[in-house]
Amino acid sequence: MIIYEPIMLAIPLAEEVKTHLIKTKRVPTEGELKKILEKLGLKPFCSDKKLHIYKGKHILVIVFLLKEYITVDILPLSGVLSDGIEVAVYHDKHLKAYIIEIIPANELGFEGNIGLEPVIVDADTFELKSTPVLGYFKEEGDEVFLIVEEDVYRIWKESGKLDICPICGAKNLVWKGKQAYCTSCGFGIKVMRYE
Ligand SMILES: [Zn+2]
Repeated sequence: MIIYEPIMLAIPLAEEVKTHLIKTKRVPTEGELKKILEKLGLKPFCSDKKLHIYKGKHILVIVFLLKEYITVDILPLSGVLSDGIEVAVYHDKHLKAYIIEIIPANELGFEGNIGLEPVIVDADTFELKSTPVLGYFKEEGDEVFLIVEEDVYRIWKESGKLDICPICGAKNLVWKGKQAYCTSCGFGIKVMRYE
């Protein structure tokens, strides 16, 4: 697990929170979120009542926790704050669903989600109602890949959006077998095969 820039934490974090939501049928508590962030390689830096700061080698993470509203702001330590990303987790009472969105921090009026689709989990049945393409990042040589599991790939394929990059949302993903490259963000995508 490597994190060079905010999106490389945002996607695995959304995946972990999604799994937690479906499994426990509630949003993570402060302690549970801490465990998730530590598992993803971050170290607690300092904290206040409602605000917790974590540090990685290349990123700084600010967590705001309200009862059913969590925002995780991920900032690059390079100082280019416009590259910041926010992961928002909330209970949408109107939609009767829990939502996990990945939003660029510099676009306050940004509608929707980076990449493909936000995570939408039904608040009654706790079933996944959207087809987000999430995974974790892996470095191979001088390339960085988003690794997605076979069943995620299957749902992605069924959604008919295989040409859209799940990392930056650009519509120019080029596939070569079970591997793809995005010419916009430079990341590769690999489908994990079960041996
Ligand atoms: Zn891309």
